[in-house]
Amino acid sequence: MRIYGLDLDQAGRCIHYHLSVDVAAMKCARCQRYYACYQCHDALENHRFAASNKDDWPVMCGICGCLMQFEQYQQGSCPRCGHDFNPGCHRHCRIYFK
Ligand SMILES: [Zn+2]
Ligand SMILES: [Zn+2]
Ligand SMILES: [Zn+2]
Repeated sequence: MRIYGLDLDQAGRCIHYHLSVDVAAMKCARCQRYYACYQCHDALENHRFAASNKDDWPVMCGICGCLMQFEQYQQGSCPRCGHDFNPGCHRHCRIYFK
């Protein structure tokens, strides 16, 4: 499964978020695509990013491709490869999850 976004690197980091920890891709409930961030999504799609249900595999790790539930994502690192996620992303919770 691929990650969508603007100028992505191999781990799904985009032009907006490109720290080492910015590897979580979020799923839009409407187009069912995993995007590096909502800004990338809104620039490339003709609809606004639609929040996914917390138990509908809303997050994908850009390092190993592991899909996870919100609960797992909230632990702060990938359950499969252990790569840390950006704690600052929680500020955008309401955009990504419902
Ligand atoms: Zn969408
Ligand atoms: Zn982006
Ligand atoms: Zn991973």
